[in-house]
Amino acid sequence: MWNYHPELLASAVPRYTSYPTAADFGPLDGGAIERAIAGAEGDISLYLHIPFCEKICYYCGCNTGASGKRTRVETYLAALHQELATVASLLPENARVRRIAFGGGSPNAIEPAEFLALVDALHAHFPLFAPEWSIELDPRSLTAEWGRIIADVGITRASMGVQTFAAHCQKAIGREQSLSMICRGTEWLRAGGITSLNFDLMYGLPHQSEADLEDSLEYTRKLGADRVAVFGYAHVPHLVPRQTMIPEDALPGSAARFTMAAFAHEFLTANGYDAIGFDHFALPHDPMARATREGALRRNFQGFTDDPADVLIGMGATAISGFPGLLAQNDKHNGRYRALSAQGKLSASHGIVRSPEDRLRGGVIEALLCRGEAQVSPCLLAEVQERLAPFLARSLARLDGDRLTILPGGLPYARVIASLFDSYRAVTQRKFSSAI
Ligand code: SF4
Repeated sequence: MWNYHPELLASAVPRYTSYPTAADFGPLDGGAIERAIAGAEGDISLYLHIPFCEKICYYCGCNTGASGKRTRVETYLAALHQELATVASLLPENARVRRIAFGGGSPNAIEPAEFLALVDALHAHFPLFAPEWSIELDPRSLTAEWGRIIADVGITRASMGVQTFAAHCQKAIGREQSLSMICRGTEWLRAGGITSLNFDLMYGLPHQSEADLEDSLEYTRKLGADRVAVFGYAHVPHLVPRQTMIPEDALPGSAARFTMAAFAHEFLTANGYDAIGFDHFALPHDPMARATREGALRRNFQGFTDDPADVLIGMGATAISGFPGLLAQNDKHNGRYRALSAQGKLSASHGIVRSPEDRLRGGVIEALLCRGEAQVSPCLLAEVQERLAPFLARSLARLDGDRLTILPGGLPYARVIASLFDSYRAVTQRKFSSAI
């Protein structure tokens, strides 16, 4: 049972898919990304960003455009092919690619032949060691052909953007997809060999009631999703202008959002799902649930992950790469990204060199969010003592010597507690959303 303490959720906080977060990035020295890739020994993971969708949803904060503009798609993919070749040419001989993820946007918004050409290029350029393939999919552009492609490529993990099954909420967020569309997509994916299927769901949507959320959770359970991510809709039209299409007066208030988040947690855990971090759930057989049980859950730019690799190389406009000592983001502007890539140059000129202190604080934040506990140095404890006190006083967290534990009732406050260890926050708070 979660108790609502609005005063503890008043500050906007990052999702901490990295530390420092992308909001703290600045200009990088020339050659930083090239040096990091050249030093990336051992197991590495690749992420390919496909910034196109068949139709743009009103709530979406991603860098994505309509896939109907064919010339734009083709020139972008040509640049992505060039970037693949450039990155691969820099990798040391002992690098081993173990994971490949396609995200976006919607990777299935491009033509199947274009997707297969990217897969061929990955095989041709990179040292692939039986990698685990995963893909994000828009059910609206999913077809039986994509199911066959998934089987041919050997993709075993897929994530479908479902958000809600309630037709009136779908209409209000500009994302209409019928129940039969999701059912059909699920069948194609299972037939294509997907063994770990994630549904993204949302609460806090316009006109959404608790009964609507319950229906969506019930359909998700019945359709057998192995994983479920339950995100709170973040209404930030000052940052995402397309969100002005969403009627603000139809959005649930903070207390209703909290109740919905608590309900989703109770529903899924009562129906056989393990809670993963603060907003994911997985059936016990799923690799994410296993990683959680073994204390091996991690957090990277894709969110919670069972990927143990310390190096994730992101390719495509806006894609972020993470190395132990460096975070670097490709150019967000598609035109500049394409121009640089065509010249055989990498576009990641923004990011941050992670200092030893960043790595220390990042380790505490990741441990709190992934394992619910962290060992904290006396210096850091002294720094956060005063701001941590309200969480300790309300039994949301416990301190035993230098071990800080987030208690079960503290889960909705996990991001806020983690943010106490973030030394950058005072400056850039406006860019984030509420923890619930
Ligand atoms: S399908 Fe996903 S990435 Fe594309 S516009 Fe909708 S929310 Fe954004």
